[in-house]
Amino acid sequence: MADHQPSLFDDDPQPWDLDDRDEQLVATIVFPTGPPGEFDYTVPQHLRDLLEPGRRVNAPLGRGNRLLDGYCIRLETKPAGRRRLKPIKSVIDKKRLLSPSMLRLTEWIAERYLCELPQVLKAVVPAGVRQKAGTRKATLLAPVADLDKRLKDGRLKDGQLKTIELSDKQAAVLKVLREFGQPMTPAQLARMAGCTQSPINTLRKKGLITARAGRVYTGKIAESNVTPEQNLTLNADQQKVLDAILESLNSRRHKTLLVHGVTGSGKTEVYIQAIQEVVGFGRQAIVLVPEISLTPQTLSRFQSRFPRVAVLHSHLTDAERHWHWQQIADGNVQVVVGARSAIFAPVPNLGLIVLDEEHESTFKQEIAPRYHARDVAIARSKAEEVPLVLGSATPSLDSFHRATTGEFQLLEMPRRVRNLPLPAVDTIDLRQQIHSRSSRGSISRHLHAAMVEALRDGGQVILLLNRRGYSTHIQCPACGHVVECPHCEIALTHHRSDDTALCHYCDHTIPAPSECPQCTFSGIRFSGQGTQRLEAEVKARFPNVPCLRMDSDTMRGRGSHQKALDAFRQGKVRILLGTQMIAKGLDFPNVTLVGVINADTALHLPDFRAAERTFQLVTQVAGRTGRGDRGGRVLVQTFSPDHPAIVAAARHDYAAFTATELPIRKMLSYPPFSTMLRFVIRGPSEETTRQFAEHLAETLKQSIDHHQATARLLGPAPAPFAKLRGRYRFQIQLQGPNADLLRAVTRAATAGLTPPDEVQWIVDVDPLEML
Ligand code: ADP
Ligand code: ZN
Repeated sequence: MADHQPSLFDDDPQPWDLDDRDEQLVATIVFPTGPPGEFDYTVPQHLRDLLEPGRRVNAPLGRGNRLLDGYCIRLETKPAGRRRLKPIKSVIDKKRLLSPSMLRLTEWIAERYLCELPQVLKAVVPAGVRQKAGTRKATLLAPVADLDKRLKDGRLKDGQLKTIELSDKQAAVLKVLREFGQPMTPAQLARMAGCTQSPINTLRKKGLITARAGRVYTGKIAESNVTPEQNLTLNADQQKVLDAILESLNSRRHKTLLVHGVTGSGKTEVYIQAIQEVVGFGRQAIVLVPEISLTPQTLSRFQSRFPRVAVLHSHLTDAERHWHWQQIADGNVQVVVGARSAIFAPVPNLGLIVLDEEHESTFKQEIAPRYHARDVAIARSKAEEVPLVLGSATPSLDSFHRATTGEFQLLEMPRRVRNLPLPAVDTIDLRQQIHSRSSRGSISRHLHAAMVEALRDGGQVILLLNRRGYSTHIQCPACGHVVECPHCEIALTHHRSDDTALCHYCDHTIPAPSECPQCTFSGIRFSGQGTQRLEAEVKARFPNVPCLRMDSDTMRGRGSHQKALDAFRQGKVRILLGTQMIAKGLDFPNVTLVGVINADTALHLPDFRAAERTFQLVTQVAGRTGRGDRGGRVLVQTFSPDHPAIVAAARHDYAAFTATELPIRKMLSYPPFSTMLRFVIRGPSEETTRQFAEHLAETLKQSIDHHQATARLLGPAPAPFAKLRGRYRFQIQLQGPNADLLRAVTRAATAGLTPPDEVQWIVDVDPLEML
């Protein structure tokens, strides 16, 4: 029987283990706060039942055996090799933070975007969850499992069976605890039962209440109180799209459906009804929207149809984020609505992903891991074999191209709901305005007249100007000197509220100069229109009309965005002016006029997507009007009325735009006809930075030759923003038809690459930011 005596220490080798001595359980760990790479450890016997991939462990690292927290990403039985592995010290999580499929997704992201797995893990599991934010250790009480039996049978006391007598207080406590249905802390229980700790302690002594150590949430979560609403009856276009989504759902196979639906075609209603189907199966849906669309308006549309919606936005505290995450992981949430990172929501039984406004560049993260939520959504929905719905009035050329090649299924919603017409769009040629000198400021005579008319008829007006500040340019007419940021070599913008000149990249601020800093000429000129100046002009032209400016200067405070939109909805504000912030997603039936002050602000940027961005912006802002019975019109001021992007936007003609733009991309081998990788190298010394950029380009070139890859290498060249925040910037572009090969080329070229001190480099796969 000696064999069956428990050993003193659980990790002592057990006699029955000896035969397998050359086999051992190996855990592969990555350390988010440690060096990159994967590290193997043995799992001591006593931890075997506690460990699974996706939980975190504490393990010694390096020569000094520093103890670090890391994720277990694999668990395998392997032959014990010659190398002795260190054992794991402890297991941190009682539940895994990542399911096997989410682990595979993180590995896919690291591979796809050429970044390190620890970086991806950091993005996937929110900090609040890792730190168990908003929770504290507590004793959790629950009734014993066989409470009724115990009460009936009584218990042994002094060798005699005695019935258990309960005082009124004790009976009340037990009743509260049973009815609550979940473990409670002693304080919670006492409060709800209206008693002291004493009856609770007595019940514990009598063995009727069990206690265990656990964690409880400390914070309070805001509850939504939206009134439930009925479904709308879908029109034929909506029904067709819903049917296509349902067909894909029911086939239980992945498919990506691209819904091209004009502004106001009722896409959201279709998403909602598709999600109802999913929820009916007991599954969950993830809805991704741009951060800017996380308005109460969007949210209440979901909250009015589903009782359990979780909203993930960037203003959540760590504690709130943790709470949501846990609720989602426990399957208590039907619909997760959130920005980019909500694609990592740990729903246990995913049924559908919707990604609305799929053309928005905010779906791409601009810091490592530089993932695009759309591509992650494709990977996740493929792995979990569920449909993915992409929606937009102006699909990205990338997605549109993938629809024409058959990778996505294209679904069209070419009409607005209730047969509302799309608004008429007229362009106003700013070149003629300059010559005729018929108007001053940035509002042309035409636009002014249209505003007067719209306001007179009781309508509301939206004015778009995609530049904040007062004057965007401060220049000396005598010597030509332009006042620039010393750290960024970018023109400073004049902000009149505090009479400063401000760098929009690094916030470097100086008092607005009254004379030329170079030649001291006193007539230095402030030119270029920003939203502040436009606001002043509107107030001067329409002194009695309430007007509100929305840009990142006025919308700093938490909730200010909501407040502004509420005021506009209630009609307290008649003219809403601002940057692209006002161009998106808003649905205000009383807006009868949209004016675009200058459609060209993005048209001439050194970015191959400049035309696409311009087309999207003008089409989207035009879509904010004509949503009610009063109709609506759009006036677009531009110096380039003949530019295909502007002509197409004025006609609401997406097909015409793709027909001119796609051949240009093809001719130049730009995405979507190739994959692009962009390297940015930066450092405080121009020379050292350039030299390293040249070295990197040379290494890449050799790697291209070595891989016999079809690839075009451009650069190094100074980036369009050649100096930012005091650091010189160079870029290299790598383009080619085979994305995997380009990644292999890059991996080989950059393995072991060490830049000189203070020089940094990054690689951006499928970059959206080109400046
Ligand atoms: P999109 O997202 O395509 O721009 P929305 O989903 O915002 O369009 O819909 C625009 C408006 O039309 C919303 O106010 C919505 O409530 C309404 N709507 C949607 N579907 C219908 C329908 N079938 N019948 C009547 N109104 C509808
Ligand atoms: Zn600057």
